[in-house]
Amino acid sequence: MVAEEPVKYEYFYRCEAGTNYLRAGLWYSLFVRKQRYFSHMHRTFEEWAQALANAGHILYAQGMVPATSGNFSARVGPDCFAITVSGRHKGHLTADDIMQIDAEGRALDGKRPSAETGLHLQLYRHVPGIHVILHHHSLYATLISQMFTDRLVFADYELLKAFPGVDPQATRLEVPIFANDQDITRLAQKVEEYMNTHPPVHGYLIAGHGLYTWGDSVETALKYVEAFEFLFRCELMKRGVKSQ
Ligand SMILES: [Zn+2]
Repeated sequence: MVAEEPVKYEYFYRCEAGTNYLRAGLWYSLFVRKQRYFSHMHRTFEEWAQALANAGHILYAQGMVPATSGNFSARVGPDCFAITVSGRHKGHLTADDIMQIDAEGRALDGKRPSAETGLHLQLYRHVPGIHVILHHHSLYATLISQMFTDRLVFADYELLKAFPGVDPQATRLEVPIFANDQDITRLAQKVEEYMNTHPPVHGYLIAGHGLYTWGDSVETALKYVEAFEFLFRCELMKRGVKSQ
């Protein structure tokens, strides 16, 4: 019986050590998650530029930004934003194709920003939590934006849970559709008016044009792009492209 004592203690110490490892592992995991969550808020312009270029490659590979269309941006600081230079091919983006603008849309480095810069700045002004905006011209977004006049309502899709704040019971999400307009200031004003009177919006369509969506990181915005694309496809397949 005496010989069993050390075994018992050894077992006890082993368990104790295991618990400590487990506890340390949990804290480390929380620390890493916290670092990941807040890391995007302290990125330099160069880091944002590379992250946006990478997003461009992903969206181009999926056929969402054909023929130099689409534009992307990130909030670098209170008066500094990273945004794609006008007319660049999104499948070949490098950090050099991303430029810096101030909160008024003025270039800080002599390059020419996307023609739709005003739409990005409206969103950054309206929602302080937005850090990244992605705008694409996917086939499904373009098609579905011409099938409805002013809004598209998704209901009873499990995937709606991908968007924060969507009531899991109601499972309903409204996506406004604005008429295409080359006057970006006027279009931004319409978006502003809609957002002032509607619950949190996660994206909007411009008819015959494409989708704007956004998030607190590139990863989140890409997730919304993917969720919207899936939902657009579902609605198109249910209704048929030619029906109204
Ligand atoms: Zn566009």
